[in-house]
Amino acid sequence: MGLDIRTMVVMTSLLALMLAGLLALASMHSGNIRGIRHWAMAETCIGLGLGVSFAQIRPGSGWPILFGAFMMVVGLNLQLAGINAFQGKMPRWRWMVVSIVLLVAVDVWFAIIHPDVVSRAVANSLIFAAISFACAKALLIDAEPPLRTAYRLTGGSFVLLAVLFVARAGFVFSVPAGGYGIYAPLLINPVTFFIGSIIQLTLAFGFVLMMNYKIASDLQTLATRDSLTGTLNRRSLEEEFSRLSALYSRTGGVLSVMMVDVDHFKRVNDRHGHLVGDRVLRQLASMAQGTIRKQDYLARYGGEEFCILMPATSEHDAGLMAERLRQIYAATPMNADDGVIYSTISIGVADSTQAGLEFSKLIVAADKALYKAKQTGRNRVVACSELE
Ligand code: GH3
Ligand code: MG
Ligand code: MG
Repeated sequence: MGLDIRTMVVMTSLLALMLAGLLALASMHSGNIRGIRHWAMAETCIGLGLGVSFAQIRPGSGWPILFGAFMMVVGLNLQLAGINAFQGKMPRWRWMVVSIVLLVAVDVWFAIIHPDVVSRAVANSLIFAAISFACAKALLIDAEPPLRTAYRLTGGSFVLLAVLFVARAGFVFSVPAGGYGIYAPLLINPVTFFIGSIIQLTLAFGFVLMMNYKIASDLQTLATRDSLTGTLNRRSLEEEFSRLSALYSRTGGVLSVMMVDVDHFKRVNDRHGHLVGDRVLRQLASMAQGTIRKQDYLARYGGEEFCILMPATSEHDAGLMAERLRQIYAATPMNADDGVIYSTISIGVADSTQAGLEFSKLIVAADKALYKAKQTGRNRVVACSELE
């Protein structure tokens, strides 16, 4: 392979700086997503480090190489810190400082005190490999799709980078004594820069993809979820309902709906304050989520009203589930700032055999049953078929 090392170094350096610019631009509109600025700074360090080490091509002092290695280790650590920040974890600064101090100590030792260019290159490559492995380990975890795809692409690129550094260490170590220099005419040097620059490119793509998928999933959550309880909002419940009713009108089948309303919730607010009221709503949502099945949909329908949509469920079965939820809720103490409170819920149940497969009609039917539950003393479940 007739790769010219000078061209490779300049190209890799410019590429890293351009990617730094791209990431810096992306970070301006990344909202509250963290980590992108770290990655922009990382690419700047890597680009500058490589650019400065270009000066070493002509015989001279070893300082540019030392500076280059220093910038490289800082850059890789910033990539790791960016991944941690992106995932909302605290960067492990102690390990980052240890790797930087270790690299500086090794380089000063093998460059000035006990000059040995091979040991220096091997040690540097192994330190770079260790940080790349740490980045890969942080990314190759289980995550929700589509973020998982971006994690795998970026994590896989870090694995390749780590393997590249280990391979480089092995090659440099095996070069006959006196034959190695970063700009010695050895194939390993241009090949490292060539593959390294391609990996830097895929890393930057991976980071931008991670940001993009995070923004998309945050927007999706914002559009479909209730911000207080994390349950579906009314709009997305209606969407799920139309999807199911279209299916059921073709295939047949029965759908049930439960309307859940907290009893005397106004009193909870008045006595204990709105924050406690909010906490009660969150607890109810989590209890309901724990009671329903995987295929059911829980949505916050209005203030203190929740709606549960149950596919392939008869009114009778929905009533049993509603009764279970009612009992669990009534028996569970809720934390108020001035002690614990007990609260109750009333539930109205209806199914599509009587009300049909139209959302508004099913809701009206379940609402009527709920109204009856309120009228007859609250803390109870009433099914639509019980109404005369
Ligand atoms: P009932 O047993 O008849 O249902 O009585 P209720 O007091 O629960 O019913 P009402 O509809 O009169 O009161 C509902 C209250 O819910 C009034 C409103 O202030 C409160 N509320 C609505 N949304 C929220 C919220 O997001 N947080 C809190 N803390 N309160 C809310
Ligand atoms: Mg209400
Ligand atoms: Mg109420």
